[in-house]
Amino acid sequence: MYETIVIGSGPAGLNAALYLKRANKNVIVIEKEYEGTGQIAQSIRVENYLGFQEISGMGLGEYFRQHVLSSGVPILEDEVTEIIHKDVWQVVLASGKIIEAKTLIYAAGAVPRELGISGEKTFQGKGISYCAYCDGSLFKGKDTAVIGGGDTALDDALYLSDLCRKVYLIHRREKFRGNNATVELLKKRENVEFILKTFVQEAYGQKKLEEILLADGRSININGLFVAVGSTPLSDIIKDYVRRDEKGYVIAGEDGITSSAGLFVAGDVRAKKLRQVITAVSDGANAAVSAIQYMKFDKKG
Ligand SMILES: Cc1cc2nc3c(=O)[nH]c(=O)nc-3n(C[C@H](O)[C@H](O)[C@H](O)COP(=O)(O)OP(=O)(O)OC[C@H]3O[C@@H](n4cnc5c(N)ncnc54)[C@H](O)[C@@H]3O)c2cc1C
Repeated sequence: MYETIVIGSGPAGLNAALYLKRANKNVIVIEKEYEGTGQIAQSIRVENYLGFQEISGMGLGEYFRQHVLSSGVPILEDEVTEIIHKDVWQVVLASGKIIEAKTLIYAAGAVPRELGISGEKTFQGKGISYCAYCDGSLFKGKDTAVIGGGDTALDDALYLSDLCRKVYLIHRREKFRGNNATVELLKKRENVEFILKTFVQEAYGQKKLEEILLADGRSININGLFVAVGSTPLSDIIKDYVRRDEKGYVIAGEDGITSSAGLFVAGDVRAKKLRQVITAVSDGANAAVSAIQYMKFDKKG
């Protein structure tokens, strides 16, 4: 039996494993993707992780993974299909194996929702982004559009309006779901234009994104398209053991403590404001320390 099983080898899970190993805990990481390092592997260029002026997402993730492997933590490639809590935590894997631990750190992340439009896959990382705080600075002085009507879309548009020459905010309805105060702030920005009651149908370009076609027949020349239509947390497997918000994010503080003793969450799967590598790594450290403290005081620990 392990002291801790970490689920997911994204930045949150890997950093949790590193902290646990350094506290001399018997820990294993389970990751479903071959040599997976989470969502960051999809990023062509990361410029906002302290210590690296510029690095590919895959490169950064691989540094994280190698650090954890070299500290002696095993990373098992398998998919967690079920979690059962008896006296201990049982983790059922797709291979049929069942492994047990006193504590679990659940760091399965989230998946950004795509638009499903023609050209989207072609221009991912070449003009189409799902994260304004990650990629906004690549579009300084350029023309961009944000798609969405919630708080993330509004915040993204505000953030980009400080960087970009022009920001189109495209929303399929007449009213935004997000905070009205942000809408009012955006109305005062001269470089922000609202495009309402329509949606993007296609993305075009040669090597990079150059133009989008709207359902109302208009076409707009832009360099960057920021998709802010939400993301899906991968929290279904633990739904019986935790409280979740209406979008499915697990409700827990920075310490990662959930409503089930011995189960901790870290990273993008947790309900929080900013989902980035730096906050995922920080969550991992906090959840590990919570698990270590739990094992110190739990009579089974
Ligand atoms: C395209 C893109 C670009 C980004 N760019 C930046 C950037 O420039 N800077 C920045 O700070 N952030 C960036 N981000 C955000 C950043 O990648 C995430 O905030 C961060 O990766 C979250 O880490 P995590 O460990 O919580 O989850 P994830 O990275 O999502 O990792 C979760 C891991 O769990 C695994 N997993 C899930 N379910 C199971 C299961 N059932 N069994 C086993 N394994 C499982 C997954 O395969 C995955 O490897 C970007 C995100 C995307 C999508």
